[in-house]
Amino acid sequence: MTEELFREDAFARQCDASVVGLAEDGVRLDRTVFYCTGGGQPGDRGRLVLKDGSSLVVIDTLKAADGIVHRLAEGSVLPPVGAHLQAEIDWQRRHRLMRMHSSMHLLCRAVDCPVTGGQVGEARSRLDFDAGDSKLDKEAIAARLAQWIAEDRPIRHFWIDAEELEARPELVRTMAVRPPTGSGRVRLVEIEGLDLQACGGTHVRSTGEIGKVEVGKIENKGRQNRRVNLVLGD
Ligand SMILES: [Zn+2]
Repeated sequence: MTEELFREDAFARQCDASVVGLAEDGVRLDRTVFYCTGGGQPGDRGRLVLKDGSSLVVIDTLKAADGIVHRLAEGSVLPPVGAHLQAEIDWQRRHRLMRMHSSMHLLCRAVDCPVTGGQVGEARSRLDFDAGDSKLDKEAIAARLAQWIAEDRPIRHFWIDAEELEARPELVRTMAVRPPTGSGRVRLVEIEGLDLQACGGTHVRSTGEIGKVEVGKIENKGRQNRRVNLVLGD
């Protein structure tokens, strides 16, 4: 299995690693800073720099049964198992994803309805809510987000046992997917005074770091389903 450095430190941009396995179009490393697709957040892109100075372009990162696969650009020559390299993420893109992902937690709190799905992107993201008969007020949602961002509340994570999560099902909310529970532990993400939920994604350090977000369209997706779009500023 791959050691997932991004779970403990979302701000690590690079790490030394060794190739431990090959996939059809990519490599598995013993450790990585590349976030793998999951929880509505896309996998990282970046590059792997080999000892001779040459580099391979990583176009996506995915979880496989035996570790994390760094998918390489078409035509790449796979390095041999055992090769040492430096893994470097596209930090500009990742930081935007972290800002957007963190804003999804605020949105989750701003709209007090069950989440039925979601997707994080670099420029825009969305959450779907089962809104029942309630009407979502775009201006009110925008005002709440702006206030919480201005308050610059700390965002932190910690781990609990999988059994504890079973006993507290309310902690599973965002994106309607279960968080990774490998090794019997579950990661919780807390936005101070606002939100606490199981989440394996990458987040900024405080709400102020999210910066400018705008509430985009609120779309009807089915009788009770409402899709709220957020657009990230620069
Ligand atoms: Zn999260």
